[in-house]
Amino acid sequence: MSDEVDPEDPTDGGAVDPDGPTSTPAPADTSPEDAFARLGNEIRLSILQELYERVVLGDRGESTVPHSELRTAVGESDSGKFTYHLNRLLGEFVEKRPGGYAIRHPGRELVRTVRSGAVETPVHTESDPVDAACYRCDAPVTVVYQQGYASARCTECRGVVGFDYAPEGALSLISVPAGAVDDAVEAAPMDLLDRVHGRFCHRARAFGDGVCPRCGGPADAEIRTCPSHDATEGPCEECGISFAATVEVRCRVCGAAGVLPGACAVGHRSPFREALADAGVDRPGYDAFALMAEWTPSPVDREGETALAYDLPTVGGRVVVDPRLDIHVGE
Ligand SMILES: [Zn+2]
Ligand SMILES: [Zn+2]
Ligand SMILES: [Zn+2]
Repeated sequence: MSDEVDPEDPTDGGAVDPDGPTSTPAPADTSPEDAFARLGNEIRLSILQELYERVVLGDRGESTVPHSELRTAVGESDSGKFTYHLNRLLGEFVEKRPGGYAIRHPGRELVRTVRSGAVETPVHTESDPVDAACYRCDAPVTVVYQQGYASARCTECRGVVGFDYAPEGALSLISVPAGAVDDAVEAAPMDLLDRVHGRFCHRARAFGDGVCPRCGGPADAEIRTCPSHDATEGPCEECGISFAATVEVRCRVCGAAGVLPGACAVGHRSPFREALADAGVDRPGYDAFALMAEWTPSPVDREGETALAYDLPTVGGRVVVDPRLDIHVGE
C-alpha cells in the first residue's frame, strides 16, 4: 500500500504531472514476467534506487538525472556496460527525457517495496510488556514481530488468533514489512503497537467502504461465521480464532485480503464512531482496535441473510451490520 501521495507521480494520487506527457512510450505487449526478468541484475536495481533517491526523495526540484551523474552515483566505471543496463530499464521502469532519466511509477513501486523491507528475511523479536491491556483479560500485552507479522500478545491468556504462524496469546496478526518495524520492537514498542493497529484500522475502513487500501480496486466483504465454534479454551480449533463471527474482505484486483472484527470495517461510521469517541478514543491506534475487537457481535438473521448484531454502550437498541456493511440502528 502506498500511503503517501507523490505529487510528481500522476498515477500516485497527484492531480497533474508537472512534467507533462512522458516521452518514452511504455511497451504495450510486455508481460509482468518479462518486466521482472529484466530486473534480475544488481546494476539495474541500483539504477532504480539511485533515481528514486535523487528524484523522489531528494530536494533537487527536478524530475530527471543526467546520464553521467547517474552513472557516477551507481558507481559503474564501464560506460558501455552502464548504458546497456540502463537501456534495458527503459519503458516500464525508466524513461528518457530531454534533461536526463526519470523513474516511472512501476519503478517507484519496486523501490518502495525494497525500501520497506518486504523482501528481507524476517526476524523474531518481542518487547517487554507495554502500557496497553488485553481486551480479553486486561493483562498487559507485549509487541511481537515474527515472520513478517506484528502482533499484540497477551502475557496471560491464550489470545484470539490461533494460526500456527501466530505467537501464543496473539490478540492480532498484522502483516508489516520489516523496514517499517526496524528497531521499534525494542526502541519504541508502544509507538509500534499504535502504528500497526492504527494502520490496520485505516485499511479495514477502506475495505469496509468497498475500496482496496493497497491498489484502489473494488473490494468485497463477507460475513463469516464458524459452524462449530468453540472458543472456551482459547482460539477455536475449527476456524483458528476466538471470534464467532468476523468480516472477511478481499480486493477483486490485487487479491489483498483480511479477516477483521466487524466493527473495524465500520468504525468510522455512525453510531460506531460516536461509541469510540464516547470511550475517549479519538484516533485509530491499539486502543481503537482493542475496543472494536471487544465489541463482540452476535450473528443474527436479517431478511434471510446472516448479519452482525451489536450492543453498543451509546445506543439504546441493537445495531445491525448487514452483509453489505450497511448499518441499521434500533432493529
Ligand atoms: Zn489476555
Ligand atoms: Zn470457530
Ligand atoms: Zn487491491
